[in-house]
Amino acid sequence: MPAQVNSSMLCNISKHSAAPSLYYDYTLAKLTFPTKQILSGVLDSRFASVMRQAGVLSSSIDAAIDALPNIRTLAGPFRGQHYRVLVGAVAGEPPYHRRILVLEAKAINGPPIRAIWYCLPNKCDGSFYSTNGHSLQRALNPCPVAKARLSSRFGERMHPISGRHAFHSGVDWAAPSGTPVRASGSGIVTFLGWRHGYGKTVVIRHIQQYETMYAHLSRTPLNLKAGKKIARGDVIGYVGNTGRATGPHLHYEVRHQGHRLNPLSASVGKPAALRGTTLHAFKRYLANLLSDSNILSRSHITPECSQS
Ligand SMILES: [Zn+2]
Repeated sequence: MPAQVNSSMLCNISKHSAAPSLYYDYTLAKLTFPTKQILSGVLDSRFASVMRQAGVLSSSIDAAIDALPNIRTLAGPFRGQHYRVLVGAVAGEPPYHRRILVLEAKAINGPPIRAIWYCLPNKCDGSFYSTNGHSLQRALNPCPVAKARLSSRFGERMHPISGRHAFHSGVDWAAPSGTPVRASGSGIVTFLGWRHGYGKTVVIRHIQQYETMYAHLSRTPLNLKAGKKIARGDVIGYVGNTGRATGPHLHYEVRHQGHRLNPLSASVGKPAALRGTTLHAFKRYLANLLSDSNILSRSHITPECSQS
């Protein structure tokens, strides 16, 4: 079943929206979208392409897919079941930075599971949480560069410089030179320096024998040294094109006991939970989101496009 716009809900949302539906803006000569939009459909392999068509950032789609296995683990088989998402821009971000703000999925005979996109105060990027404030993200952030574009995936590919088929042992995140690169999880810096074709490189050791590697950096912070303890989200370098690179990007690898893993599917550690004042702030944000969008106020998640 293709994803559908839930028109009855859009009516509720359009009170707060610049436009109630997708239209073509000839003045700007580019596609524009409603401020907030609810999409629903069935969880299958087309989920990512449906979200891309709705103008959602690739990093947001990856984060949602990242959250789905956690949801399945928690509450049974969701694949093939209905989903509903609220799409829009986070306050303070440009309107074309469209993200999945709320993701709902529902198993047969089960309650809907909801994932809420939330940015912690003073953090560069957000992640998905359950409505009670439990993190649904994996312990290693698959995208260490905010607002980056996934330019090359993990696995076999034609090498952009040599033109030969080669195994790509990480993922490439394209971003302007100088964009901060943040540690994808807490750990200890075990290497900082030049590494052949990888150029300026940082390696971090995490718990449970996981390692992450950040390559082609333009520079690293002056106070960053091998042996230093760092927290998730700390800046450990800046995007560049040192070594063998066709343009500024981060080559990012995850290894476990020496084996290279796909950073977009690797998982480690237990999810964290919000507490204290942070949990209160999250609850306030959630309450505002609900009053604004009405997405969670209905018990049924199946498409309800009955309005004529
Ligand atoms: Zn690469």
